[in-house]
Amino acid sequence: MLTRKEIENNELVQLASYAAKSSGTKGRSHREKEHPYRSAYQRDRDRIIYSTAFRRLEYKTQVFVNYEGDHYRTRLTHTLEVAQIAKTIARSLRLNEDLTETIALAHDLGHTPFGHSGEDALSELMAEHGWFDHNSQGLRVVDLLEERYPLFPGLNLTYEVREGIIKHSTPFDKPRAYIPFEIEGSPLLEIQVVDIADEIAYDNHDLDDGLASGLIEENKLESIALWKDAETEIKKKFSKIPAKIKRYQIVRSLINTQVTDLVKNTEHIIKKFNLKSASQVREMPERVVRFSDKMNELRKPLRIFLTDNLYHHYRVVRMADKAYRFIKDLFETYIKNSEQLPHSARTRLGKDDKYRVVCDYIAGMTDRYALDEYKKFFDPYKKV
Ligand code: MG
Repeated sequence: MLTRKEIENNELVQLASYAAKSSGTKGRSHREKEHPYRSAYQRDRDRIIYSTAFRRLEYKTQVFVNYEGDHYRTRLTHTLEVAQIAKTIARSLRLNEDLTETIALAHDLGHTPFGHSGEDALSELMAEHGWFDHNSQGLRVVDLLEERYPLFPGLNLTYEVREGIIKHSTPFDKPRAYIPFEIEGSPLLEIQVVDIADEIAYDNHDLDDGLASGLIEENKLESIALWKDAETEIKKKFSKIPAKIKRYQIVRSLINTQVTDLVKNTEHIIKKFNLKSASQVREMPERVVRFSDKMNELRKPLRIFLTDNLYHHYRVVRMADKAYRFIKDLFETYIKNSEQLPHSARTRLGKDDKYRVVCDYIAGMTDRYALDEYKKFFDPYKKV
């Protein structure tokens, strides 16, 4: 059996000197005995996968609401794509793949139903009551809201994973966590990798889903150099292929091009600053894991295109606005008479602020649960 000690030793030998080692973790808030054959980060990964919040990601919107179709990305499949891209980057930079995977799997646990419109509604409603944002909520989920252990609340994850969830970009960028959280300096490279893998994943899968749904017309992409170059390459290789296969091939090539640029450029920065340890990474005034300037320029028009043509498409905007309105209605209904909250949430009322209890309850909902609750309140023929 490969023991934890051996895993830790392997990390010291195999990983780069600037990688985060599981034996160097700042540890957990509540003391626990180490596992015999899993590293601290492997254990955290498993705790996340077994959490309720993780399973709920399956029914939370990325861009397309669940009932639009079965083939679009959900927050769960988005999370898996982020983890997969992040692990590839981490492995090729000889970073800690286990830590990277764990942070990626946890990175969206604080998301509300209906994506950013749900978040906008809760931020507005909570402005006077201690605010809301999905990164802070993610930390709240793993620190407090998940109930698994008899001796402490939450999942008792390691400091580095919790830091990855709270997300911050520089030592000066103080995250507004609901829970006090001391920042050590710049984020570890593993955290930086997940952040960019998130961007790569959603830019490309939103493009793919946008095209599949017909909201984006492919010929409009001709003006985007990144797209055009990938298309030309594919056409050179295969002169006649079905449109759908061509689309997959282009998206696949786009991800590959961006990941390759990121890995090469990051390697270059690591060499330039002669980074030799994770503590040196902590002292860096700026991000180390980043695209080349050329790739940043190439990515810009693609992102603007997505904003104009997909995120601002009238059907996406209508759905977002509808979600915003009914999340607000639900919130106000619970606040007006909190005896309408189900038992699990009501038991917290004595101890916690009413607004926070309602906010946690709504933030944890899946899209379909929120829709169902809404019907129960506002459809007179629906059983309550
Ligand atoms: Mg994400």
